[in-house]
Amino acid sequence: IQRTLILVKPDGVKRQLTGVILARIEAKGYTIAELKQVSATPQMLAEHYAEHEGKPFYQPLVDFMLSGPVVAIIAEGQNVITGFRSLAGTTDPTTAAPGTIRGDLGRDWGLKVQQNLVHGSDSEESAAREIGIWFA
Ligand code: ATP
Repeated sequence: IQRTLILVKPDGVKRQLTGVILARIEAKGYTIAELKQVSATPQMLAEHYAEHEGKPFYQPLVDFMLSGPVVAIIAEGQNVITGFRSLAGTTDPTTAAPGTIRGDLGRDWGLKVQQNLVHGSDSEESAAREIGIWFA
């Protein structure tokens, strides 16, 4: 069965949307295999966001991810990787489709980084790598 790494980002935790987001994951039929609240370290984020190093939004993104606790989840299910990304919606919450987590719950915070509530792995390789970072 496929696994993916989901993060409720600091904006989602601060806005007390963790339960709502978990409910959507469970309602879709995915299983919560692991779940924990964690304060990310700069080292974890450097690994997690290695592909974005050097981009203009990189440092604001890392600072945002350090601004409060994150809820890390391993979810399981058939096609959960692409399925959760559909559930999350597109990156920018102001244009994400209604019915998605970002489309229904995400706001434009007017900052340099998209505070878009959740992260989901984008491939089996990313999922394995990211699970290793957050559930070492
Ligand atoms: P998705 O592509 O669905 O957003 P993702 O979360 O993996 O999935 P990435 O493209 O990997 O998105 O970017 C990681 C995060 O960096 C985004 O979720 C968002 O918070 C931030 N980000 C990405 N691109 C931009 C951008 N152009 N401006 C500001 N923030 C961005």
